[in-house]
Amino acid sequence: MARDVMSVRLWLPQVRVLGVVVDAPERLAVRVASMVGRPKCPHCGTPSRRTHDRRDNKVRDLEVSGRPTTLVWERRRMVCEPCGRRFCEDHPAFEGRLTARLARRAAADARAMTVNAAARRHRLGWDLVNSLVVAWAGLVGEHRRRRRCRLLLVDETSIRKRHRYVTVLVNGDTGEVLAMVPRRQGRRVRRLQGAQGGDQSTARPRPPRAGAASTPSDGSQPG
Ligand SMILES: [Zn+2]
Repeated sequence: MARDVMSVRLWLPQVRVLGVVVDAPERLAVRVASMVGRPKCPHCGTPSRRTHDRRDNKVRDLEVSGRPTTLVWERRRMVCEPCGRRFCEDHPAFEGRLTARLARRAAADARAMTVNAAARRHRLGWDLVNSLVVAWAGLVGEHRRRRRCRLLLVDETSIRKRHRYVTVLVNGDTGEVLAMVPRRQGRRVRRLQGAQGGDQSTARPRPPRAGAASTPSDGSQPG
């Protein structure tokens, strides 16, 4: 045995290493399998234990000691007995042709540098890295929309003086405009308030800006 041999863990949960396929100075390939015992059928949700066959899926992972690393995932095709359909198993560590951790790292690097630089660093295509960044931005936007704000400002203001009154809902923590509702659509405003945390909301008039009139949302008419 060579003197510079050591074993390295992949640290991928629920993934079993079956063996090293290629161990060359310029690349590493490792054969792996899922340790999830009974993958769920995506059609009916029943856990299945019947394997139809296995197919090799190549999945790029983070580099190991500076070497591009590929996992050869022996992906099972299962048979679901209740509904009789076949399906390929999924695994939370793998996202298409990348491991989830490589996808996260590439998207994070693209935000810190550029898509081009991140693509070069991880030896991935520009389109792939760009799609990871776009998907990440979508997830963050969704998270922000779901996160309730602690302070909701409800402000009725006119776009032009004596014209077209709108109710504006603003996240008091971030200043982000959450919604604009034409005139005083009370039901819609209450629904938006409820979606943001109901009782925690508070109404506060905004001081009038030059060229714009504002009014508190207490039912009073603008002067
Ligand atoms: Zn099924």
